[in-house]
Amino acid sequence: MSAIVNPEPVVHASPSAQPGQPIVKVDQIYKSFGANQVLKGVSFEVARGEMIAIIGASGSGKSTALRCIDRLETIDSGHIEVAGIRVDDPDVDLHKLRREVGIVFQSYNLFPHLTVLENVMLALRHVKMQSKGEAQKVALAALAQVGLDEKAGAYPEQLSGGQQQRVAIARSLAMAPKVMLFDEVTSALDPQLTGEVLRVMEDLAAGGMTMILVTHEMNFAKRVADRIIYMHQGRVWEVGPGEMLDNPHTPELQAFLAADL
Ligand code: ADP
Ligand code: MG
Repeated sequence: MSAIVNPEPVVHASPSAQPGQPIVKVDQIYKSFGANQVLKGVSFEVARGEMIAIIGASGSGKSTALRCIDRLETIDSGHIEVAGIRVDDPDVDLHKLRREVGIVFQSYNLFPHLTVLENVMLALRHVKMQSKGEAQKVALAALAQVGLDEKAGAYPEQLSGGQQQRVAIARSLAMAPKVMLFDEVTSALDPQLTGEVLRVMEDLAAGGMTMILVTHEMNFAKRVADRIIYMHQGRVWEVGPGEMLDNPHTPELQAFLAADL
C-alpha cells in the first residue's frame, strides 16, 4: 500500500456561485467497520436546492457516507448537520431526521401485497399520522410527480422495474423531505429502464429539491448535477462542476473515468 499523498481534495472552480445556505454539512467524518477505516475525514456541504452526484470506485465509501447522513450508520468522529438537525448528537430525534431526509436505494422494497397507492400511503398514515383521505391525496400527488398516478391501483408485480423504482421515489417524496438521498437507484435496472428513473430525478432537481445521489451514470451526473464529488479510498478526492469529468486533475479520477468507458 502506498502512502496517501493527497489528503486535501482537488477543487475545480465552479462557474456559478454556490446558492444560499448549506442545508447539509458534513465535517471531517470518520467511520470504521472493525479494522477497516472506510471514511477518512470526509467533508462537504450541500446548498439548498443543489444536486450533488457522488462518484467513485466500488468500496470507496460512497454508500457509507450517504447512510451516515441519514444515521443508518453512526460516525466515529466528525459532525453532520442536516436541515438544522445535529445528526451525530446521540440524542437526535430519529423520527424528525427521517421526516426531513428521504433515502432511496437500489432495491425498492415495495410491499407486494399492497397496491402502489397503499405502498406510498403507508408511512404517511403510520409515521405522519395522516387521515386516510389526506394520505390518499398526498400519495396520489407524489405518484403524479413521478408519472404513475394512473398505476395507483396496480400491484408492484404488475409494474416494470423502472416503474417500481419510481414508486419508491414517490413513497419517499410523499413525506415531503427537505433533502433526498439516492444510492445507485438505477443500478439494478435494465438499460432501457434507467432513463425513466433518471428523468424523474432530473425533474426533482429542476423543481428545486436538494439531492445527493451516488451514481454510475456519468453522463447524467455531468449534465444534471451542480457539483460532482469524486471519492477515492474513503476521502473526497476531487470536487467540481460537471465539466470536471472532461478535465480530471488527479491520476485517480483519470483512471476511474478511463475504466468506466
Ligand atoms: P461504495 O458504496 O463506495 O461501494 P461502501 O460504503 O458500501 O462503498 O463500502 C466501503 C467499505 O466499507 C467496503 O470495504 C465495505 O466492505 C465496507 N462496509 C460497508 N458497510 C459495511 C458494514 N455494514 N459492515 C462492515 N463493512 C462494511
Ligand atoms: Mg455503494
